[in-house]
Amino acid sequence: MSSGKTFTEGRAREIVFERAGFQCEVRIPGVCVGGVTYHHRKLRGQCPKPDLWRPSNALAACGSGTTGCHGWITGHPARAYELGWAQLRTNEDPAKKKAWIWSNNYLGFGWFLLDDRGDLTRLWDVAEPTGVAVGGVLMRNTVGGARYRLVDGTPTDQREARAS
Ligand SMILES: [Zn+2]
Repeated sequence: MSSGKTFTEGRAREIVFERAGFQCEVRIPGVCVGGVTYHHRKLRGQCPKPDLWRPSNALAACGSGTTGCHGWITGHPARAYELGWAQLRTNEDPAKKKAWIWSNNYLGFGWFLLDDRGDLTRLWDVAEPTGVAVGGVLMRNTVGGARYRLVDGTPTDQREARAS
């Protein structure tokens, strides 16, 4: 919760980029170009002011509005919402909306809750997303050792048990 605390833009950027280890947290294979920009999960133009610079409302994402993971998110709003990356509703608490991201601490993908201190809580019991619209590329969960194919709009069961 925001608990009435408002963050400055500068402090929010510090917290989010440190959380991410100054690396992209979205990491869409074949899309990610590295480097980070500050990405708002609630669109800036629609974001209530108290949420605007809450670290829980942000991801470190590579690219720009048209390139890299940031660009992919912009171009795939529905899927980006399902994965907790963007398009959060005005009245949603970003600290309660899980996101499928890469964690620099866990060195893997997972569902996480983001708080305003810059900490991540891993949701181990939530099933990994399937049929993720990321253009038919493999995203690897290095924590579980599982691989799964991400096919644009197509549910898939092509998970490979092989952990390599
Ligand atoms: Zn990226």
